[in-house]
Amino acid sequence: MRKLLSAVMILLCIKGHTQQNTNDFFQSIRKQEIKLIAFFNQMPKGGDLHHHFAGSTYAEPMIEKAIREDFYLNKETFAVSKSNPGSAEWVRFSEIINNGQLDAMKIKILQTWSVKDYDPSRYPSDKLFFESFLKFWPLMDNYFVPGLLELKNRALKENLSYIETQLTTPINAPDVSEWYKWDDEIRAASSKQEEEKLNDLFSQLYESILKKGAVERADSFNLFFVKKLHDSLRIDEPGFKMRYQNYVLRFMNPVDLFNHLTIAFLSADRSDLIAGVNIVSPEDGDVSMKDYELHMKMYRFFHRKFPNVKYSMHAGELTLGLVMPEELTWHINAAVRIAGAKRIGHGIDLAHEKNPFELLRYMKKNDVAVEINPESNSFILKIDEKNHPFPLYFNYGVPIVIGSDDAGILRTNLTNQFVILAKRYPFLTYNDFKKFVFNSIDYSFIRNPAVKKEVRTDLENRFKTFEENIKKESALLRN
Ligand SMILES: [Zn+2]
Repeated sequence: MRKLLSAVMILLCIKGHTQQNTNDFFQSIRKQEIKLIAFFNQMPKGGDLHHHFAGSTYAEPMIEKAIREDFYLNKETFAVSKSNPGSAEWVRFSEIINNGQLDAMKIKILQTWSVKDYDPSRYPSDKLFFESFLKFWPLMDNYFVPGLLELKNRALKENLSYIETQLTTPINAPDVSEWYKWDDEIRAASSKQEEEKLNDLFSQLYESILKKGAVERADSFNLFFVKKLHDSLRIDEPGFKMRYQNYVLRFMNPVDLFNHLTIAFLSADRSDLIAGVNIVSPEDGDVSMKDYELHMKMYRFFHRKFPNVKYSMHAGELTLGLVMPEELTWHINAAVRIAGAKRIGHGIDLAHEKNPFELLRYMKKNDVAVEINPESNSFILKIDEKNHPFPLYFNYGVPIVIGSDDAGILRTNLTNQFVILAKRYPFLTYNDFKKFVFNSIDYSFIRNPAVKKEVRTDLENRFKTFEENIKKESALLRN
């Protein structure tokens, strides 16, 4: 027994020693960006828990599809359309090619569908970002096959072993237009804090949606859309897993949004492939702001119905100037305290929230993780090292995971988010980054414990190999 114990002690010492070596090496190169890039490219990065399917696919393959299927292009706005919208500015790609204009058009398309060559003096960054989706959206029809393979291949090349993609809104929700008349009543009950009445309305609506075949619809979505895609593309393999989040759109009116939440939660409850639910679209939009508290109450309702379904929520993706200051004081609080989110996305307005330090303690105590997306915050919200709340989350021990958000539009990848954080925050050590990576599996919504364990064990092995490799290279790379 004593022999065994000392063998374990020696092994632990070696492990600790290799980790210390890697940290020493990391500290020695952290001011040289090019070495940091090489370091983080090689480092296992576990999972990317915050990214959107449509925003993560790059423009180039979408343009190829537009050419292959001879879409129409608007030569002024660079939007595409499958059918002819009928006005003079729309031309077919075949015509563009025949006129020898394709290369010039490609440059313009990339500049409007993504941040390529972005010039802040010419266009607001948030506008460019959100408008880009509308421009390429007609190409997203049937784009899941190439898109998911693109995301998987990129993840493999970046040494990721898991991604949790915000895939789609429910695609076969029932027609609920007959209950639109309840929109005002639901809003009124929420704003007057008539909780009993609100829950009663929710329950009636929920039962009515169930009667329209919600369970069968959720099952058919799970089986004939998600599972079919997942299996036919052979997404999972040893060393790589992908899971999906259903998402709902915050700009929808209450009855429609509730309808989508019903299918999203049912679907997540009934499939191992659907890891959770999210809520997306600009948080500062009119309906998003007006109905924010109501949305949190809807989540609370669904949490009671489906206690096993996990959900992450975009929350506090707001800045001073974007909305009225008092609106910055409560969105994260409401997401974690009313809705009961297990993770929040962005959490940018933290320092403006009511009792921010108490909120941070609450998040730590209740193990609510924050998904940090540095490049997205810089581009869309102009939040960078001076005003990003990252150090607050870090100091208070809130679990942190790092996400890429919309790598296709932002023309970036997950590795670059690590590079940005290492450059920005000198207090972060290699061990901190390693912790963020392990968090990305520990705080993932993978439902099957055996799968989660498999990914975690694989990650431990990858780090062992990485740290040994760094040891070999460090003599040459160190200055
Ligand atoms: Zn996002």
